[in-house]
Amino acid sequence: MLEFSVLASGSSGNAVWIRSPGTEILVDAGISAAQLEKRLQTATGRSLTDLDALLLTHEHVDHIRGLKQALKRHPSCRVYATAGTWYATTHTWESADAVAWTPVQAGTPWTLGDLRVTPFSVSHDAEEPVAYRFDCGDAALTVLTDLGYVSDRIKAVVRGCTAYIWEANHDPAMLRSGRYPWHVKRRILGDKGHLSNEDAAVALADLLDGAPVAVYLAHLSEENNHPDLAELTFTSVLQECQPTAASAVRLYRTHRTQPTPRHVLLGGQHTTAAGGPNCL
Ligand SMILES: [Zn+2]
Ligand SMILES: [Zn+2]
Repeated sequence: MLEFSVLASGSSGNAVWIRSPGTEILVDAGISAAQLEKRLQTATGRSLTDLDALLLTHEHVDHIRGLKQALKRHPSCRVYATAGTWYATTHTWESADAVAWTPVQAGTPWTLGDLRVTPFSVSHDAEEPVAYRFDCGDAALTVLTDLGYVSDRIKAVVRGCTAYIWEANHDPAMLRSGRYPWHVKRRILGDKGHLSNEDAAVALADLLDGAPVAVYLAHLSEENNHPDLAELTFTSVLQECQPTAASAVRLYRTHRTQPTPRHVLLGGQHTTAAGGPNCL
């Protein structure tokens, strides 16, 4: 069994709470510690001090903004991050040595109590970025954001999950015609940038086998995307690429300013703490 809530998603901040029967973690701490605490309380009734570990994907500020303050509130919390991410995150800190940091290596899974964690590298403009797959019993969840493309290697690692928190960053037409400077547009569209709605949907379609799967569309650009457009693109791409398996997919939204209701994964069964999915 696994349960999770996306506490925040987008370029303004990212954090995902995940709990198995024996282990409780946060992936990234990209909003203030006060907001982390508030949203944890709202969505899960839990607190930062309940966490067993904090896992980092990479050092961009929308993933670490609240890390230092969170560790002040819960100093004994263990932090897992690649060496590149950790040094890029803490090189200006005076007290980084006091943190209980464990290095992560892409491709080397480990267990946190009853939770199996598989880190894998992603193509993104950071020092040593990773994404994670989590397994506990029959439940499996992948958190995959901040990457320029989904390689076959990544698809092999994340195949068979019961839920995905899956990047749907931008609509290329909106991005191209938008007001971002060209060098920023090029960065986002590049191999080390972010996934467009269509590329993300095509990659996801490759993973479908007809089993029920929950997909949380994540890290949507506020400027260059719209939740309705992301959902519409996913729906049409999945139906076109995988007409049979697409009906087993349920799409959910994530938000910048509020957490998603707690989602419980029991093997192939899904329940949400507050109502059903808010789309499809
Ligand atoms: Zn990000
Ligand atoms: Zn990033």
